[in-house]
Amino acid sequence: MVARSSSVRSASLAGGQSLRLPGSSQQVALHDQLYRYAEDLQHVLERQSSLEENCNTLRSACVKLSESQRLHNEIVGQSPDLHFVTAADGRILQANPAAQTLAPMSQLIGSALKDWVLPACHPDFEALLAHAGERGRSDGQEKELRLRREGPNTTQLIVTASVIVANEDSGSPGYYWVLRDITRIREIQFESQISSMVFKETSEAVMITDIGGEILAVNPAFSRITGYSAEETVGRRPTMLRSGMHDAGFYTSFWRSLQEKGYWQGEIYNRRKSGEIFSEWLTVNTARDANGQTIAYIAVFTDLSRILQAERRMSYLAHHDMLTGLPNRLLFNDRLEQAVAQARRNAGRFTLIFIDLDRFKQINDSLGHEIGDIVLREAAARLAMAVREVDTVARLGGDEFVIIAPELAGPEAIAVVANKVIDIVSQPMQIDGNELFIGASLGCATYPEHGDEEALLLKHADAAMYVAKSLGGNTHVVFDSFDGAPGEALHLETELRHALERGQLRLEYQPQIEAASGRVLGVEALLRWDHPKLGQVPPAHFIPVAERSGLILSIGQWVLQAACAQLAAWDGIGLPPLTMAVNLSPRQLRDPLLVESIRSALARHGIAANRLEMEITESEIMQHLDADRGKLARLRELGVKIAIDDFGTGYSSLARLMNLPIDSLKIDRSFISELEREGCSRAEAITAAVLNMGMALGVQLVAEGVETDAQYALLSGQGCQVIQGFLTGRPMRPEMLSLWLSSKAEARSLAASAQQ
Ligand code: C2E
Ligand code: MG
Ligand code: MG
Repeated sequence: MVARSSSVRSASLAGGQSLRLPGSSQQVALHDQLYRYAEDLQHVLERQSSLEENCNTLRSACVKLSESQRLHNEIVGQSPDLHFVTAADGRILQANPAAQTLAPMSQLIGSALKDWVLPACHPDFEALLAHAGERGRSDGQEKELRLRREGPNTTQLIVTASVIVANEDSGSPGYYWVLRDITRIREIQFESQISSMVFKETSEAVMITDIGGEILAVNPAFSRITGYSAEETVGRRPTMLRSGMHDAGFYTSFWRSLQEKGYWQGEIYNRRKSGEIFSEWLTVNTARDANGQTIAYIAVFTDLSRILQAERRMSYLAHHDMLTGLPNRLLFNDRLEQAVAQARRNAGRFTLIFIDLDRFKQINDSLGHEIGDIVLREAAARLAMAVREVDTVARLGGDEFVIIAPELAGPEAIAVVANKVIDIVSQPMQIDGNELFIGASLGCATYPEHGDEEALLLKHADAAMYVAKSLGGNTHVVFDSFDGAPGEALHLETELRHALERGQLRLEYQPQIEAASGRVLGVEALLRWDHPKLGQVPPAHFIPVAERSGLILSIGQWVLQAACAQLAAWDGIGLPPLTMAVNLSPRQLRDPLLVESIRSALARHGIAANRLEMEITESEIMQHLDADRGKLARLRELGVKIAIDDFGTGYSSLARLMNLPIDSLKIDRSFISELEREGCSRAEAITAAVLNMGMALGVQLVAEGVETDAQYALLSGQGCQVIQGFLTGRPMRPEMLSLWLSSKAEARSLAASAQQ
């Protein structure tokens, strides 16, 4: 500051110096001038001082700023967050090292930040930018974004992002981004969500206890399996589930394993709230903290009883027949194997019974599969009832069943069981308003005599069953009765094939008597098969086999020839000219060569055609009436007579009968036998009606199966012309018949001479 004085003009200069000045006007002017200079100088000095001060302030501010810049850079450099400075067009201008978690710096700089954001998050990215643009700075708004990563770590990066406008005042504003990596947090959240989901949803029970054994938590599966809710369980001890089925030693080794190995695993029996004991597969693990200290035990268990049940169910399904519930072939094979092994070990015996139901196929075909199934179920239940507990009844498929009967051996014992089985199966079945009858054909083979291993036994039992079936069913055959060496074919069909060439077939002749006079009119040829091992096989058993196999054609041909030859032979020895009735099977009737072969047989043996009568069953003729009519007519043209056999069993319609070229009706034996029954006026009425009808049609009437005098009297009284039956003559060998005829003729002539 400069002080002005007129006497002593002095100027204080900075630093305390003073300047003495002259006193003239010029001097004054100079003085003033100087004074002004001094003042200016003073100002300059002051200004300099202030500038220096400012400069110092600025310098220290600069130092502070650079320090803060350094600090910022350091912080940003060290920050785990990703920092980006982007230009207005979105290109990355700067990035901190943490940003390299996305990609190397060289790839980041210059690239658009948005390109690193997954498309699904672009709307959020844009929203953030818009928000930053509006307000000029972030007010803490954050968005979660997912970013792609470059390089080996291709998993996404999940961040929370915030942005502020940077360099706002400069000519080229940009944005400052801070992205916080929350990938791990999200992963942990996800993991914990998953674990809690697993804990809740798993089908395995989970129980967590503290080290003192107090239950901390249980999951819903635990409650489902044990019946205890979480509220009933937490705070209690696992001993609440104890079944009492394990001794102290069990629990000692349990705890030892837990302490030594850190886990225990095994099957354990526990008790549900309901009191039911169940088995579980238990794994107990020790949970430790970071220092290795045990903090909890985690028990996870599966309800084995359910699994075992399911397994048992699966195994049941695999081993049992669904329809009948009986063991199936698989289980049967297993049981048979066991039976053989056991019998072999104990030098024991057992019998295998192969069963085929009789008439099942007809029922199934005619009444449908639903009824068929019911019949099979019923038959299976009956079979199971007929046998002992130790026996196995299995269904092999279709209507085939098999029984393994341990300790059962010998024909008598087998017969008892077999008859029981047949009896029970043959009882009528009431199904769907129908009374159904089935039967059973049984084939039996005993270990070891009929086979010492499974396949052979089964084969022999099967073969014996086949014979039982061929014998008409509802019977049993023991493999023994064939004396069959292993592998010998026991099929009736095969046997029958050889029967002709081996001379096992022959004919018997049953007389047909004129009712009124008792005179022998003729005979019916009846086929006989003498099998060396089976004995005499009834025609009712083997004719169907011959029919099915087609063997009936050659057999029928043989019968025809043999019958004609016999007639010629009798003629040759002077017997009265008899008629010969020969049975024709359906298949023969269909044979185009039939008429011709009959003609040639007659011609060959010199027999008049009208002495031959062909018998065709009523059921056959009614079934194939149209097809057979021409054939019958041609036979008639030949001069051969036609008889309808077993009349009354085939539901003939009168109208159809009247149109048929027939000569005789043979009333079936079943009606004749009914006649004898007391009070059976119905049978009597039927025979009377049939006889009347026959007479009206002008055909000859033959009564079959007449066994008593009463039947004879009744029938002849009703007008029946011909009688055939045991009463008047059984089927006989030809030599017997000629003797019988001679004795009859003798008796007649004796009677005649006695009358004279
Ligand atoms: P079918 O033609 O009805 O023969 C009569 C059957 O009744 C014969 O049985 C005979 O022995 C039997 N019979 C006769 N009188 C009486 C009686 O008073 N009481 C009883 N209980 N039975 C009596 P068989 O010989 O067992 O023949 C059965 C069936 O076999 C025959 O019935 C016939 O259909 C068939 N058959 C027999 N031989 C032949 C043949 O050479 N060819 C064909 N295709 N079938 C034959
Ligand atoms: Mg006959
Ligand atoms: Mg008959």
